[in-house]
Amino acid sequence: MKNLKKTLIFGTLIAMAGFWSYNTFALPKGEFTYLDNEYIHSFQNRDGLWVIPSRARKSPEALMEAFGSDKEEFLALNQLKAGKNIPRNTPLFFPYSETILQELEKEGKSREAVLSEPDKMVWPVIVDRYSRITSRIGRRWNKFHTGIDIACRRGSIIVAAADGEVEISGWMGHYGKVVKIYHPHVSHTETIYAHNTHLLVNKGDKVKKGQIIAFSGTTGKSTGPHLHFEVRYQNIFLNPEHFLPEFPDTINTVAKLD
Ligand SMILES: [Zn+2]
Repeated sequence: MKNLKKTLIFGTLIAMAGFWSYNTFALPKGEFTYLDNEYIHSFQNRDGLWVIPSRARKSPEALMEAFGSDKEEFLALNQLKAGKNIPRNTPLFFPYSETILQELEKEGKSREAVLSEPDKMVWPVIVDRYSRITSRIGRRWNKFHTGIDIACRRGSIIVAAADGEVEISGWMGHYGKVVKIYHPHVSHTETIYAHNTHLLVNKGDKVKKGQIIAFSGTTGKSTGPHLHFEVRYQNIFLNPEHFLPEFPDTINTVAKLD
């Protein structure tokens, strides 16, 4: 344990040294944003994991035990009542115990930290080698495409592009299962995340940049699993790419499905 602490402190120092030396020529205004990944999700300022028990082929009780979740906290976070049946076919949030979190960190499964200025967004799909931009904003045949399409595997992690408050979480015609978020610190814009399979946040929730809000899919009018992402200001469609860093390099790697 003592050794681990030493390693951690030493590691942090090295990381800090690297950070400062790397940025001496252009000190960023950005703050750290932690991107949820397949191992660690955040929900209402708690670290844990969204799991559909039937998919995991485990009972909610077994999952609680595995993740060190406190039962009362688990029930409260999922708005469930004690003594009632716990659903098995919808995503449930299992808060991690401190021990489990430390183990994940040791295994190198921590969230990725990225620098992002408060008035800028992060890519709403956690990009892997399967994700790529398939359509940008603008005229497409005789229609106007109102956002950007990012093809990704079904069940990919969709995160909030910036801090904000959830305005809509539900079904919306062609958009399928959609989340709409209002961003007071990004010029009062709104972002829209369409065609998801599962929505993980509710209307009125405050969400953090990089926090998981949905699992991707192909609901609504859609030809395959992808995220349709929009940025609006007073219902005018803006180009999302003006708020985003460049799409990560993986776009150039041709996805090979194996
Ligand atoms: Zn689209």
